[in-house]
Amino acid sequence: KHTEVIKEGKAEILVAEKNVFYNPVQEFNRDLSIAVISFFSKIRYKTVLEKKDPKLKDNGINIEDINLQAGLRNEDGITVLEALSATGLRSIRYAKEIPGIKQITANDISAKAVDSIKKNIQHNEVEDLITASHDDATMLMYRSRRNRFDVVDLDPYGCPSIFLDSAVQCIADGGLLLVTATDMAVLAGNSPETCYVKYGAISLKSKACHEIALRILLQHISCHAGRYGRYIQPVLCISADFYIRVFVRVFSGQIKCKANTSKLGMIYQCVGCETMTIQPLGAIKPNGGYKLANGPVVDQLCKHCRHKHHIGGPIWLDPLHDQVFISKLLCTLDNMELGTLKRIQGVLNVVHEELDVPLYYTLDRLMSIVRCHTPTILAFRSALMNAGYKVSFSHANKVSIKTDAPNEVIWDIVRTW
Ligand code: SAM
Repeated sequence: KHTEVIKEGKAEILVAEKNVFYNPVQEFNRDLSIAVISFFSKIRYKTVLEKKDPKLKDNGINIEDINLQAGLRNEDGITVLEALSATGLRSIRYAKEIPGIKQITANDISAKAVDSIKKNIQHNEVEDLITASHDDATMLMYRSRRNRFDVVDLDPYGCPSIFLDSAVQCIADGGLLLVTATDMAVLAGNSPETCYVKYGAISLKSKACHEIALRILLQHISCHAGRYGRYIQPVLCISADFYIRVFVRVFSGQIKCKANTSKLGMIYQCVGCETMTIQPLGAIKPNGGYKLANGPVVDQLCKHCRHKHHIGGPIWLDPLHDQVFISKLLCTLDNMELGTLKRIQGVLNVVHEELDVPLYYTLDRLMSIVRCHTPTILAFRSALMNAGYKVSFSHANKVSIKTDAPNEVIWDIVRTW
């Protein structure tokens, strides 16, 4: 049989069978994951060092001073589960390129895939670091609830929903969950009823659909986690090419789970002028407790054009990214050898500037709604800033306007053009 050798990063993959999945377009996804897990592994190692010697905690260890080597087994390092591994490429790259790994499990339900994972582990000489596993990912994750992983990576075809219930249970406290979703048509509003079935939220056709997709996935993960007294903290959430990818930390804490309603909300999108109004489901009370609002209340008709609304959601309203994590991550990138490094730096720089305001409008759409000539995005952004508001791009759309200005201000500016 003809065997093709594919090189990506420090891994070499033998692909003999056409039906074992390899997708070169996902190199960016794998590179970005390597960058994020590498930094996460340092954070974990810092905690291990501090536990071993509390004096270190008092003196404060600098993450930058932690030097771990990739490709070597580290007894104090992190454990990783790649639940849907296909050829094993991702796990092999993690083993060879991420410093501070204790053990990786590369799992797949398909016997052919597992055969290919085993061959590739041998070919890359990473037997010490990676164990091949032939199992249904959900069963493997349920069984691992008492023997949790520091990192769980879910990279399925299409929708990740069926894996989330077990995944949120088999992650160590403060561990990292990485989830890809490629069913963008469903998440981006082409089939709101399917989206509700799969993600427990209604999607909307909107220019901000890629960010809505991210926020629908986050509310879905958070909802699963909450059932087991666990809550999530997004580290980085990206829309790229034909998929979305979220990196979230999972923590245990019954009381914190009660804050979930205040992190969720519905979107009301006017059928006429497409103005989006967000209605949080709950609010944090002044005394610090959490209480659900008495059901969402919105104007029946849009304030701006007197049309009715489409309702979407619930979506996640809290930040999509941990900006402290991102700025430190950006500093570590220069020393990394990644095929798509330039693109990662570009995306992370935009992410780092992103305002923490849910959703965005796009300039061309705003202007076409009022049938006016479109000004330059720079001019429009300046107008918002001159009116005293903040404005940024979203990494998900090149002509996006993300702003803390209220809708009336945005329409006032649009009308003056
Ligand atoms: N993560 C891989 C990469 O980066 O190259 C690609 C994974 S591919 C998109 C999805 C894989 O999930 C397929 O190999 C498929 O056999 C496997 N799969 C589907 N359902 C599964 C299940 N219930 N348990 C384990 N593996 C499953």
